[in-house]
Amino acid sequence: MIQKSSNLFQRAQQVIPGGVNSPVRAFKAVGGNPLFMASAKGPYLFDEDGNQYLDFINSWGPMILGHACETVEKAVQDALGKSFSFGAPTRREVEMAELIVQMVPSLEKVRMVNSGTEATMSAIRVARGFTGKDKIIKFEGCYHGHGDSFLISAGSGAITLGVPDSPGVTKGVAQDTITVPFNNLAAVKVAVEANAGQIAAIILEPVVGNMGLVPPVKGFLQGLRDLCTQQNIVLIFDEVMTGFRLAKGGAQELYNVLPDMTTLGKIIGGGMPVGAYGGKKEIMDCVAPAGPVYQAGTLSGNPIAMAAGFAMLTYLNEHPEVYAYLENLTSKLVEGMQANLAKLNLAYTINRVGSMFSIFFTPDPVTDFESAKQSDLALFGQYFNSMLRQGIYLAPSQFESLFVSIALTDKLADQYIAANLAALQVIH
Ligand code: PLP
Repeated sequence: MIQKSSNLFQRAQQVIPGGVNSPVRAFKAVGGNPLFMASAKGPYLFDEDGNQYLDFINSWGPMILGHACETVEKAVQDALGKSFSFGAPTRREVEMAELIVQMVPSLEKVRMVNSGTEATMSAIRVARGFTGKDKIIKFEGCYHGHGDSFLISAGSGAITLGVPDSPGVTKGVAQDTITVPFNNLAAVKVAVEANAGQIAAIILEPVVGNMGLVPPVKGFLQGLRDLCTQQNIVLIFDEVMTGFRLAKGGAQELYNVLPDMTTLGKIIGGGMPVGAYGGKKEIMDCVAPAGPVYQAGTLSGNPIAMAAGFAMLTYLNEHPEVYAYLENLTSKLVEGMQANLAKLNLAYTINRVGSMFSIFFTPDPVTDFESAKQSDLALFGQYFNSMLRQGIYLAPSQFESLFVSIALTDKLADQYIAANLAALQVIH
């Protein structure tokens, strides 16, 4: 029974474009109506009709500690009594910046914003201001939010809805974004040579979550690092999904490659709307009022968001065992899925890094956007719906990663593996 969700979707379509406030939520790629959520606790979501789902989206990453985690809830309740917003600096912003700089290896200074999109937009402006150059290189299928410069060969909802190059982005902006295939260092070198002296920044998701989960091949990140150092290009890791998730210090810690700038997002708000960008001192000191590159935000560093994020990051900082737990549990999930595939004589590709993973409905390795697009999307849709009927809530697009939280137990992982087997049987 999803009557209440269906009714709400009807109403929503009258007053909200497509009935949702972010495109992938509309279930367009998988058919059917989106579910409207009423509450969540631990590993579960509960919809308006009272149905319970085991959640593998986790708000697209941030709920590492599970939903309605008491540590975060308590911090928010304490902050609520003191004001929702001051429009002036607060102690918590300083503590938050200190903690982020301590945890993320390459960061020396950091600026808070309100979303991942703001973080990436601001980061490339600063990189341009710092280098005095205009062009950027991004990778096909990487998603860096909905800033104009990034809606070129974009992943996530943009590719899910078939608009990787969005109408509304001017030719002038588009010509300053050069796209190359992910994991292809030779192509990056060609692009840099063809635009000698003009590239301000190379931006990438060091582990891509937005074309499904795609890890970097060996040497790719270090190769980019070396190239950027040689060519005076700012290397930006967009760790909006991977920061504080793949390791305390994000993908840059896991792969031991340090970018010049890092963008962070949803995770640092523990579910509240937050983003941040940061990097080396000499780059970040270009930002107003320390320097001439302008960037501002009325609600930036909002006290409620800072309280939630600080509580969550403090927990992660003090409990490094979280990462071992997530690694072991997600590896168990993937091994279970692989055993299911073997049992049914199927050869689909599963990619995983830490607590992020994807199953692609193609037998070939998925290493970039082209190979991700070989996945059978109709089959993915059937698989998604079969899992949903069994009470497992997956990302409603092939071009998204799944996320595991510490609220998932061993027993629930077994439930997921059993559902996966049943879904694979149903669709074959
Ligand atoms: N960068 C990456 C890697 C993301 O995954 C996202 C969102 O999913 C963004 C940037 C944009 O963040 P937001 O949706 O908060 O604007």
